[in-house]
Amino acid sequence: MDSKTLYARAQRVMPGGVNSPLRACRYVNSEPVFIERAEGAYLWDVEGRKYIDYVLSWGPLLLGHCHPDVAEAVYMAVNKGTSYGAPCEGEVALAEEINKLVPSMEMMRMVSSGTEATMSALRLARGYTGRNKVVKFVGNYHGHNDAFLAAAGSAAQIVPGTPGVPEGVIQYTLLAQYNDLEAVKAHFEQSGDDIACVIVEPVAGNMGLVLPKDGFLQGLRDLCTQYGALLIFDEVITGFRLSIGGAQQRFGITPDLTTMGKIIGGGFPVGCFGGKREIMEHMAPCGGVFQAGTLSGNPVAMASGLATLKALQQCDYDALEARTTKFASELCNILREKGQAIALNRIASVYTLYFSEVPVTNMIESSACNGDLYAAFWQQMHAQGVNLAPAGFECTFTSFAHTDEDLEQTLEAARKVSF
Ligand SMILES: *Cc1c(COP(=O)(O)O)cnc(C)c1O
Repeated sequence: MDSKTLYARAQRVMPGGVNSPLRACRYVNSEPVFIERAEGAYLWDVEGRKYIDYVLSWGPLLLGHCHPDVAEAVYMAVNKGTSYGAPCEGEVALAEEINKLVPSMEMMRMVSSGTEATMSALRLARGYTGRNKVVKFVGNYHGHNDAFLAAAGSAAQIVPGTPGVPEGVIQYTLLAQYNDLEAVKAHFEQSGDDIACVIVEPVAGNMGLVLPKDGFLQGLRDLCTQYGALLIFDEVITGFRLSIGGAQQRFGITPDLTTMGKIIGGGFPVGCFGGKREIMEHMAPCGGVFQAGTLSGNPVAMASGLATLKALQQCDYDALEARTTKFASELCNILREKGQAIALNRIASVYTLYFSEVPVTNMIESSACNGDLYAAFWQQMHAQGVNLAPAGFECTFTSFAHTDEDLEQTLEAARKVSF
């Protein structure tokens, strides 16, 4: 069956025909193609077209699609049952592996998505500190929890970021622009005794890639320590991607709590939150902060996550970073030679190429980028078998499965784009 027919069927039974809005490809004025299968760096759609994939399920597949070790671990696990509703060794083994690689996560709890991880971490921070307020950054995404879906209204007012979020739920949410340490300081000066936590993507990946300015993360660390608030690193994207120890290892800054997702499931629905033992022991059944999950620590998902982390430890992160750096800057050069103003943000194996005259350091600058030019670029790349993120304000990921030939073929496609 072709994508058009499937999309028509999908739109009858699912809003917009999708289970997550960006997949509808509306930001690139296109319709989604339906995928039949994936392997390594490639996707094949239902009509048999092959794509070099730079979305990689929005980040989880740093090893590429269907890595043989991960697939093998999953088959083995399925043969032993798909869910027990009781403890199993896989949960312990994955937690031990994460603790080894990210030592600040002395204890943790597995959940089934990044959204659940941040939601639970926020509850824990509030329960632990006995305070209500949370500082979050405009353009940082922490899943679709009510408390984080707040937007800046007029006159420093905070308003719901989507219909369906009551004003009461975001009354404790304080906003600041990313990289604006002064704004965070002002929040602490005004309501420091009621701020439970600051939550931040240590490298922002949901307004396109935006790097923290020098001193920004350390500044957050210092303010949280000074006022007795918890610093939460949302490493759902950066965990195991920026380095095997995540952003906290790469920048040498230790948060109180960390949330993980994406890569730790290796393509299965897994999230996780963890941190200092003393804080984590406030979770039920040790402590009073309630949280639970029917499929948490699912044995198949744990096997996938563990096989992924084991395989990643054999991978050469520096080499992938060097190749990605060269690739992304060559891509920029190609577009600049076509007369486009491009701002490039890049770290490790992730980058965003913005159609922008100015560097992008926060949401204001990210929103000002030219979406129409990106759409034109995306469509022409897609037609040539290159799958980029279907919105200009998203990250582009490379994986250990991408060969030099894949990257060169992608550059060759870019050379043929016209504006
Ligand atoms: C993807 C993402 C989430 C949400 O994870 P889901 O598994 O989609 O719920 C949270 N935080 C960050 C930084 C993310 O990129």
